[in-house]
Amino acid sequence: QHLSINQYLRDHIRTVPDWPTPGVQFRDITPLLQDAKVFRVLIDAFVHRYMDPTMRPDVVAGLDARGFILGAVVAYELNIGFVPIRKKGKLPFTTVEETYELEYGSATVELHTDAVKKGDRVLLIDDLIATGGTMMAGKKLLERLGAHVMEGAAIVDLPELGGSDKLREAGLPLFTLVDFA
Ligand code: AMP
Repeated sequence: QHLSINQYLRDHIRTVPDWPTPGVQFRDITPLLQDAKVFRVLIDAFVHRYMDPTMRPDVVAGLDARGFILGAVVAYELNIGFVPIRKKGKLPFTTVEETYELEYGSATVELHTDAVKKGDRVLLIDDLIATGGTMMAGKKLLERLGAHVMEGAAIVDLPELGGSDKLREAGLPLFTLVDFA
């Protein structure tokens, strides 16, 4: 019986209602990582796309923290480097930083100033796009160092929150595998 890769992956995402706060439907990707077969299907979906010579990045940037898990494995498989974009206060060397608004308060992310070179084609990876604020901040950091963010990739998009539209309007192509309303 045929099951699309997208449906197969969706079936392994756990929804936790009212976490971390009431009204949030948390889309938990840990079941995808936990099962060796599903994990491979997931990673291969990204690797297949970016192995294509016209789509090949020079470097993968991963967003703290679930973007590290995905991004590092994808980079390894593509035989390219990985750089982390971290929450403020974790990176030891000189950094650029970007602050963005959350529903309650704000967040700041940082990137080492030598993480990418001018003109590098960067693939930016996270687990999920909600309002798009996190990925937008990552894009700005990479661009400030002169890199070109060729695409943003995530497992899950929540299109109704408008983040993916906003990112595309800002000129960032996106590749996501599962939508949740
Ligand atoms: P945003 O910046 O609003 O696009 O939020 C994306 C970031 O927050 C990602 O790093 C996600 O891991 C996390 N996130 C936001 N909303 C959810 C959700 N409903 N389920 C799981 N993770 C989420």
